[in-house]
Amino acid sequence: MKAFSFSSSALQPDAYRSELLDAAAGGYVSFEGWVRNHNEGQAVTRLEYEAFEALANKEGERIVAAAIERFGVVKAACVHRVGSLAIGDMAVWVGVSSRHRAEAFAACRYIIDEVKHRVPIWKKEHYVSGDSGWVNCERCAQPTASEDSHDGHHHDHDHGHAAPDYSRQMALRDVGEAGQAKLQAARVLVIGAGGLGVPVLNYLVGAGVGTIGIAEGDSVDASNLHRQPLYSLSDVGKPKADLAAQRLRALNPAIEIRTHERIVAANAAQLLSGYDLVVECSDNFATKFLVNDAAVQAGKPAIFASIYQYEGQLQVYRPDMDSACMRCLWPEATRDGLVGNCAEAGVLGPVPGVLGSLQALEALKLILGLPGQLRDQMLLIDLLTLEQRKLKTTHRVDCRHDASRALASAPATDLEVSFGDLRPAVAAGYEVIDIREPREVAELPIAAAASQHIPLGTLLADDASLNRQGKYLLVCARGSRSRAAAEHLREHGFSHAYSLRGGLAALQG
Ligand SMILES: [Zn+2]
Repeated sequence: MKAFSFSSSALQPDAYRSELLDAAAGGYVSFEGWVRNHNEGQAVTRLEYEAFEALANKEGERIVAAAIERFGVVKAACVHRVGSLAIGDMAVWVGVSSRHRAEAFAACRYIIDEVKHRVPIWKKEHYVSGDSGWVNCERCAQPTASEDSHDGHHHDHDHGHAAPDYSRQMALRDVGEAGQAKLQAARVLVIGAGGLGVPVLNYLVGAGVGTIGIAEGDSVDASNLHRQPLYSLSDVGKPKADLAAQRLRALNPAIEIRTHERIVAANAAQLLSGYDLVVECSDNFATKFLVNDAAVQAGKPAIFASIYQYEGQLQVYRPDMDSACMRCLWPEATRDGLVGNCAEAGVLGPVPGVLGSLQALEALKLILGLPGQLRDQMLLIDLLTLEQRKLKTTHRVDCRHDASRALASAPATDLEVSFGDLRPAVAAGYEVIDIREPREVAELPIAAAASQHIPLGTLLADDASLNRQGKYLLVCARGSRSRAAAEHLREHGFSHAYSLRGGLAALQG
């Protein structure tokens, strides 16, 4: 028989026992675990076990092999039930045959203890009250408010209902009640919930930042866990954004945590529009430059970090302080392909942990207005030698962020207008101009009276067909092209050119 296996039907201890019989062994010990009818004061009616079998089998096999080697026994095996079990059903069986009984007992005990602690198996208990709850295997996962373990004695069962206590940070003279109120009012978007994002999220949530967005499209991989301590082995394969939000809500139920899709060019402007500050925690330069450009465009501060093996870099873009953006330093687009990512180059877990912690610190310093904020320097830190340097960064006059910034900080503060429907816009005297490409218009036509279609390229090349006194509402899919186009028209003497904020995506219905 296999050293470790799962069974979805009733366990067969007699059959397993005959498999372990060995003429060389003088003794045989077995352990049988049964479904009991109560747990931590709740009456249990039945339960279900679920396992991520590919991973669980490997871990189970390692445990049994270690027991055989460590205790010098002849044979050992373990079978675990999965599926739906009734009270009294056998949930787990362990058998060991050995020359000596002391080793047999010890190996059997070792196997059951290790299986319970290390193999990713989820247990769902059904109670007499009609309630049910998933109970994580004891050490595979941190219990949270919604998945609280019922068989542990070390958990504070009230933690899901307790109010957050910020007293240790409020005791700082620079924080106090006023600082805490600033944190509560802050809205921070965190791009990526991986090696950098996990410490950032943990500390910002703990500090009581009132609104936190998580933009992440990946699922947990077992290779992430050494540097992403928010997740556990039993999370492998599950989406990070939802898991992180669930864990972080348990850490601080008093704040709002929103999850978003992975950031891409098409949603970047929209994503940033709901936040005051961006913390960039992705593992690739394409995303970092995308976030850089979106932050420059929106005129919002952004905190960047990147790591390479034992080294890290930290940079803060401050549009209000004429600081350099990432393109001022690296005008040649992305460096992906030149610099390895964690998978290729390798990384020790604490390296992103340190850099992510520094990002969280800069975010808190910025929100609280503390002295010493990183603004026109880049911090380089070597975590092998523990040496650090700060390099002066200069805003390059030819950086294209000037052009973007000119748009973002245009004197025309009324450039964008919001409507939930185009009819009131028409009623208010706007002439609607759809500047999308013909293909987009064909896919999703707009049904507004007094509208015309002038693709962006045509409009920029020749605005002669328009009247400089006209009151125009430019419309595109998400509001960024129309904003640029309205800006262009304003610069060319159209003082009543406007852009529909958020584009067609922001319209209701
Ligand atoms: Zn720049």
